Amino acid sequence: MNVLWRRGKLQAEGVVNVSDCIFCKIVAGELSSKKAYETDEVLAFHDIRPQAPVHVLLIPKKHIASAHHIQPEDAALVGRLHLAAQKVAEDLGIASDGYRLVTNIGVHGQQTVPHLHYHLIGGRQLQWPPG
Ligand code: 5GP
Ligand code: ZN
Repeated sequence: MNVLWRRGKLQAEGVVNVSDCIFCKIVAGELSSKKAYETDEVLAFHDIRPQAPVHVLLIPKKHIASAHHIQPEDAALVGRLHLAAQKVAEDLGIASDGYRLVTNIGVHGQQTVPHLHYHLIGGRQLQWPPG
């Protein structure tokens, strides 16, 4: 278990606070980001290292460590996160050609930031399967 994943797990379990989570800092405005969409509970911002012409991250403002840490009470929030992804894809003009919405989980999933996020990637032909 790597350090980031362990920290996310501890945060999810409430063992440590989330003050060192970079995405919580983006939500709090302590770190800057280029926003694509925002509601009171969801934030979408452009990835700092885009892998395609469009690469936006969608996060709940509430700290959830990963998709594997979603609780039953988060179900409506996660649904609205998906609806936000649809809106961002429409707003950025990639909906009609299609796009990818993915979330990495844990070490084997190559998750590097332990705050639930969906990558919205598009604007070019994507390949499958991923590595
Ligand atoms: P993961 O590897 O956890 O699936 O995705 C984390 C993503 O967050 C990566 O694509 C990475 O480029 C992006 N990222 C990491 N730090 C920052 C940051 O400070 N600002 C923004 N906008 N993106 C970040
Ligand atoms: Zn967080």
